[in-house]
Amino acid sequence: MEKKRCTAVVLAAGRGSRMESGVAKQYMLLRGKPLIWYALHAVEESSVIDDCILVTGAEDISYVKDEIVAKYGFFKVTDVVAGGKERYDSVYNGLAAAVENGTARHGDKRCAPGHDGYIFIQDGARPFLTEEILQRCYDAVRQDHACVAGMPVKDTVKIVDESGFASRTPDRNFLWQVQTPQVFDAPLILYAYERLMREKERLIREGISITDDAMVVETFTDCKVRLVEGSYGNMKVTTPEDMTVAEALLVRQAV
Ligand code: C5P
Repeated sequence: MEKKRCTAVVLAAGRGSRMESGVAKQYMLLRGKPLIWYALHAVEESSVIDDCILVTGAEDISYVKDEIVAKYGFFKVTDVVAGGKERYDSVYNGLAAAVENGTARHGDKRCAPGHDGYIFIQDGARPFLTEEILQRCYDAVRQDHACVAGMPVKDTVKIVDESGFASRTPDRNFLWQVQTPQVFDAPLILYAYERLMREKERLIREGISITDDAMVVETFTDCKVRLVEGSYGNMKVTTPEDMTVAEALLVRQAV
């Protein structure tokens, strides 16, 4: 089967308020490199990914272009665009840029949506993305159109009521913790996100929070999302303790 174009949308527009640090977490140093370097490096080295849109804070764009993209030679990054208030706003801006570039690249404005390959949405705060995970996701998306990396949960999970008492214990055999990449046919994820943008005020009113991309596809399309094996090490760096754990994992990888 012919390889289709794969675009990574790497998200680094979060404010990282749980990090309790003056520096945005994506630029904090982890073994001498900014946190965001690791996901971009995996993308740059990958035989799966063809190009990359980096989504960052509006005020950080020129810093990121000079001090990250140019400095470390991330040649697959074709655009650095501003994110939005919520993660899904940032994803939408990244998708819009991926389509723009696709249209420009193919030189034909009529071939909307401008991208008939796959979009890999990746949290910039996950430094342990590997070529194996990217390859497994690519194989799955070609077959099933939508997939997300994740792992079965190891702990028992409780649903709690508003007073903090356990109300239900879902069967652990059916529970996965979800990671990134989350990977979709480009027209499918574009359609789902266009719908989200039109209907988000209603979802907010109904108290529904959209926390990942699979949920957007589940909510607005009939496409089922396949779970693909990520790794237990594919963690997201959110708190200061996570930086310590990530540092230790990197040291272990290096020896
Ligand atoms: O906040 P959370 O840890 O879930 O963020 C996951 C990823 O999404 C991070 O890489 C963060 O930078 C990104 N994000 C974003 N725009 C937002 C919120 C989060 O790009 N408004």
